[in-house]
Amino acid sequence: MVGLKERAVELARRAAKGAAAAVLHHSGARELLSTVQRRAVGGRRVLLLSYHRVVADFAAEKDRSLYTLNIAQDTFRKHLEVLQQSHDIVSLDDALAVLNGSRQSTRDVAVITFDDGYRDVYTHAFPVMRDMRVPGVVYVPSAFIGTDRVLGHDRLYLALKRMQERGISAMAVGVGGQGERWLIDALAGEPTANVALERLISRYPTPQLLELASTLEDRLGLGSEKFADGQLPMTWEMLREMDASGVITGAHTAEHTVLTNARLADARREIAQCRAVLEKGMKKPVRHFAYCNGYYSAGVAQALRAEGFVSAVTTEDMPNVPGGDPYALKRKVLWEASSAGVLGDYSPALAACQFDDTFGLLAVQKPVMGARPTNFDTAGKASAEKPFSAHG
Ligand SMILES: [Zn+2]
Repeated sequence: MVGLKERAVELARRAAKGAAAAVLHHSGARELLSTVQRRAVGGRRVLLLSYHRVVADFAAEKDRSLYTLNIAQDTFRKHLEVLQQSHDIVSLDDALAVLNGSRQSTRDVAVITFDDGYRDVYTHAFPVMRDMRVPGVVYVPSAFIGTDRVLGHDRLYLALKRMQERGISAMAVGVGGQGERWLIDALAGEPTANVALERLISRYPTPQLLELASTLEDRLGLGSEKFADGQLPMTWEMLREMDASGVITGAHTAEHTVLTNARLADARREIAQCRAVLEKGMKKPVRHFAYCNGYYSAGVAQALRAEGFVSAVTTEDMPNVPGGDPYALKRKVLWEASSAGVLGDYSPALAACQFDDTFGLLAVQKPVMGARPTNFDTAGKASAEKPFSAHG
């Protein structure tokens, strides 16, 4: 349950950050810090941004979806406008060329990316980008394109939220077996549905989590619950239309699988499968990849290279450095609250501080790292290397 204390802490945190952003922005400290950082990385900075859903009305979507993935169309447009004041928004290929030194840039560069291939990226983000002539990348899980299948994390989030609302415990929901043990672990300490979801996804193999989602939907009678249209996957036509305007398609596995929680042999198969499906559907090479949940390993990166991918993005919120590993590109994940000031309203100062990574520079926020051990397990049994082994 989200208690009063958590709400108060969240509000105080936001107020402090909003106030700090205003001071940093208006005193010129933000500009100064970015000059220092530019020097530290030895040239132009390369900023990769990650969004998920772009919705018409943030408040209206808040109660019925995993809202930490959402940003309002209006806020998204403002982000691009503020970003353009400090950065050239370029294609991923151009940004990679700046990083590997084969291309010079007179300004810092930024790339707009979207994960998961939600339909409302086509409906609400694409028109803004087309108007502003901004390129980008949508990383899509290939098995979902053109279907009415809802992504596993959205289904699990809804189930966890309904359990919470109805006061149903992990044991009482009647899932049984390993799924019940996982739920007990994830719900320990009564976290928010967002935190419980993150625990499930980061700890356990994706295929079994999809089974858990189905069982939970069955037990909770969620079969008739409707998801928003914008939460459904894009169609091939949408992807091709965006591609023709410079918003290209990248790969995000087939089933939105956290590859470090799968055996390496299975990860390899899924990487090959998603590339083949995407290239057939897009009728062109697909060379860029995004790790699900931002988790990667040396083995998975090697598999991507072998399959012909030239880049892969994480969700490690750190600066990219020239000559850095193109299979572990750093990215900043943004949503509505990332630029919400003290009162929850849009703060241009906070948005500017995000794009300049001012808080990262000041070491106010620690990045969540995505590197994991390679899962060489071939027997399918739990091994010490598996992050989920301790949980059965
Ligand atoms: Zn994803």
